[in-house]
Amino acid sequence: MITKKMQDAINTQINAELCSAYLYLSMSMDAETKGLKGVANWMYVQWLEEQEHARILENYINAQGAKVELLPITEVPKTWKNTLEMFRDALYHEKEVTENINKLTSTAWHEKDFATISRLEWFITEQVEEEDSINYIIDQLELVGNEKFGLYYIDQKLGERRYKMAEPLED
Ligand code: MG
Repeated sequence: MITKKMQDAINTQINAELCSAYLYLSMSMDAETKGLKGVANWMYVQWLEEQEHARILENYINAQGAKVELLPITEVPKTWKNTLEMFRDALYHEKEVTENINKLTSTAWHEKDFATISRLEWFITEQVEEEDSINYIIDQLELVGNEKFGLYYIDQKLGERRYKMAEPLED
């Protein structure tokens, strides 16, 4: 069993993951309208993954005999100036998520809630990967600048990304 404080904190994180999902879906739809099918694909996979992050925490709350309480989804931007701005926004957002996960882990430590700490370890590692992959794409976009063929090439590469189920949901 987890404390009410921990339950509320995890419910807030479930909402943050679903808000992330919604943001990436909006980015995907914006890229679609601009003919950037690869960017749209990359962002769509991201939307699926964020829903999984919420699912992992939902499963955890349920396994602890607590209740998932869904909170409102905040409004997200509908359009971005260019692909670089989109990924910079994504990085800014992921850094906020990392901070949330760190705060959540601190709360779990404070509560001496070792089961929650153990569950959150996957998220801590995941955030390092999230920031690293977005950083790499930003580097590439900065490298090509306004060179249209460069953007075309990056779009092709981002189109190769495929959805893969998160390890905690595999069994
Ligand atoms: Mg996430």
